[in-house]
Amino acid sequence: MNAIVSSPARILRKLRGMPTSDGAGVKLVRVIGTPQLDMLDPFLMLDQFGTDKADDYIAGFPAHPHRGFETVTYMLEGRMRHKDNHGNEGLLTGGSVQWMTAGRGVVHSEMPEQEAGTMRGFQLWVNLPAKDKMAPPQYQEYAPEKIPLLQPKAGVTVKVISGEVAGARGPVVQPATDPLYLDIALDADAGWETGIPEGHNAFLFAFEGALTVGEGDYARALETHELAILGGGAQLSLRAGSRGARMILVAGRPIGEPVVRHGPFVMNTRQELMQAFVDFQEGKF
Ligand code: FE
Repeated sequence: MNAIVSSPARILRKLRGMPTSDGAGVKLVRVIGTPQLDMLDPFLMLDQFGTDKADDYIAGFPAHPHRGFETVTYMLEGRMRHKDNHGNEGLLTGGSVQWMTAGRGVVHSEMPEQEAGTMRGFQLWVNLPAKDKMAPPQYQEYAPEKIPLLQPKAGVTVKVISGEVAGARGPVVQPATDPLYLDIALDADAGWETGIPEGHNAFLFAFEGALTVGEGDYARALETHELAILGGGAQLSLRAGSRGARMILVAGRPIGEPVVRHGPFVMNTRQELMQAFVDFQEGKF
C-alpha cells in the first residue's frame, strides 16, 4: 500500500480541433496550437490526420525547416517517408513512431509513400528547454514491434511509446520533459486506471468511440475527436462506453520558459527567432 493516496484526475477542459491544411495542402485537424488552445506546456501543437481520400494527403510536406523543439509522428495507418538535410531517411509505417529532436536545425520532407488507401495518425510538437534548443538533431524511431504492447487487464490494450506502465517502459526517452505517450484501447464497457506523473501537464485525445473520464462527481464524458485537458490529481480512471474507445494519453513536465514561435521555429526570445530565420536562409541548418 502506498502511504500517499494520490487524488483522482478529472477533465478540466474539453475542446475539439480545428480543420486546417499544412505542408503542400495536407488536410488535418489541429487540436493544440490554435486560438482556443495555444499550447499546453511543453506541448506546442497536436495535429490529427485521418482520411482515406488520397487528395487529402498526397501533396505531403515538402522540404521545410524546424528549430528549437521536437516533432513526434505516430502513424496509425499508412506509409510516410522522411528525409532530411543531414542524410537521415526512413519509412514510417502503421504503428511506428518517430520522435525527432530538431534541436539547432533540420530541413526535412515528410511525403506519403502510397497513392491510395488510408493515412491516419498524429503529429505532436514538444518544446525543448533553452539549454537543449541548439543541441544536435537526433532521431528516436521505432517500428511497431519495438513498442511494448500490454494487456494490463481483460479488455484493455496499451501501447507504451514513452514513459512507464506496469513495469513496461516505452522506447522513447527525453529527460527534459519526461514524456508519457500511451495509445490506449478499451473494449466496450471496459475500465482501466493508470497514473499520470506528478507535476506533468496531461491530455487525453479520443479518436474512436467514447468514454467516461474520472469517477463520482467528477466523471465526465469524452467523445470521439475531443481533447481533454486533465488535472486535479495523478490517478486517472477511464471507462469505455458501449462502442469501446481508443485514445492517446500524453503527459510531460512543463518547461516554464518564455515561448517565442513562428511557424517551424520555437525559441525563447525574439532575437533567437530572428536568428533562426537568418541561419535557415544562410543554409546553416
Ligand atoms: Fe516537419
